[in-house]
Amino acid sequence: MSKEENLECSFCGRKKSETDLLIAGMDAHICDKCIEQAHGIVEEEISESKSSSLAKDLTLKKPLEIKDFLDQYIIGQTETKRAMAVAVYNHYKRLLQEDTNDDVEIEKSNIVLVGETGTGKTLVARTIAKMLNVPFSIVDATVLTQAGYVGEDVESILSRLLQAADYDVEKAQRGIVFIDEIDKIARKGDNPSITRDVSGEGVQQALLKLLEGAVVNVAPKGGRKHPEQKFIEVNTKDILFIAGGAFSGIDRLISKRLNRQAVGFGASLEEDKIDEDNLLQYITPLDLKSFGLIPEIIGRLPVLSYMNPLDAKTLRAILTEPKNSIIKQYTKLFGMDEVSFTIDEDALNYIVGKAVEYKLGARGLRSLCEAIFTDAMFDLPSSEDKEFNVTKEYAEAKLSNSTLKKLRAAS
Ligand code: ADP
Repeated sequence: MSKEENLECSFCGRKKSETDLLIAGMDAHICDKCIEQAHGIVEEEISESKSSSLAKDLTLKKPLEIKDFLDQYIIGQTETKRAMAVAVYNHYKRLLQEDTNDDVEIEKSNIVLVGETGTGKTLVARTIAKMLNVPFSIVDATVLTQAGYVGEDVESILSRLLQAADYDVEKAQRGIVFIDEIDKIARKGDNPSITRDVSGEGVQQALLKLLEGAVVNVAPKGGRKHPEQKFIEVNTKDILFIAGGAFSGIDRLISKRLNRQAVGFGASLEEDKIDEDNLLQYITPLDLKSFGLIPEIIGRLPVLSYMNPLDAKTLRAILTEPKNSIIKQYTKLFGMDEVSFTIDEDALNYIVGKAVEYKLGARGLRSLCEAIFTDAMFDLPSSEDKEFNVTKEYAEAKLSNSTLKKLRAAS
């Protein structure tokens, strides 16, 4: 036998001929199988130390710091930012105190955000997840159905979260799920239905156990880390759920309730002057019930907050102030071609004016900018021109009436 064939792995003892690869070190050898095993151990150790450092990180984030972080990305919405900061702080306090064995059990602080579309509900949830560095997924409540019906089971919510966590169950179990359009699964009418309401109440019932905390079998859906497993067990007790919805028409329910109260209690509210333009600020869980959420769901979404409609001043700030504001993004894009990009105050105000006029909201700002800057983004990279200043006249010219009509149709 040659000397070469005599070599063996110093870890498992396999002969060179039994391995695909044997790597030589100073005084030892290691085979491909042992390398793989060792790699697995390293990954596991790193992810464990990461999750314990997550716990350490969390103790450091006080509500004020959470709000400061949110302020960098979200304009206005102060009430919601404060409510979210407290809810998230308490949620993670709850995770950290789990080992204490007194009888006081802190309940989950799942959140429900009410506000028109485009006011930043998803942005708030996403920014919180970014700050905490936890997996985040968004699901649309309208695609959910109760088990046995056509559509997605509520468990699919967790499949997405697992995906976002790259199939690391531990990580997923501390993630954040944003359930969009929760208002669309409200039951129709305030009375419990006699016939089963497939689209609404059934889904609400199915959601209950997820929100509260349960061990759920989740189909991994193509996860390569668990190809052999049909189901992965996910415990939802530490997952933070944030639900959002426009609840269109809820302002009428709030107004009705306020007026009833005003009559019932010596018209005291009238003296406080109700702000009719923004009735959402008076929202209570009662209004969600009148809208058609079942009391059990409302109970499991104990933190209720609202989003203010975006006025021109806020839209103007959204264009330039957030850390990754739309204008900062364009500046960076042009900068990558060594083009210095500037935009006049007039032009910014013109864009905001069009977003307001055409009721395009914050999402519209982006489409407006895209329409104005596309030609320049096409031409400048191959031009000698390294200065691009956008005036109001330039913006006006690019946003011809026909473009605006198209934008309005698309929004
Ligand atoms: P919603 O979930 O309420 O429909 P989004 O969070 O998806 O709204 O907001 C749409 C877009 O509008 C976001 O990507 C963001 O750029 C912008 N936006 C909305 N509200 C704000 C805000 N208050 N501050 C900064 N950007 C905002």
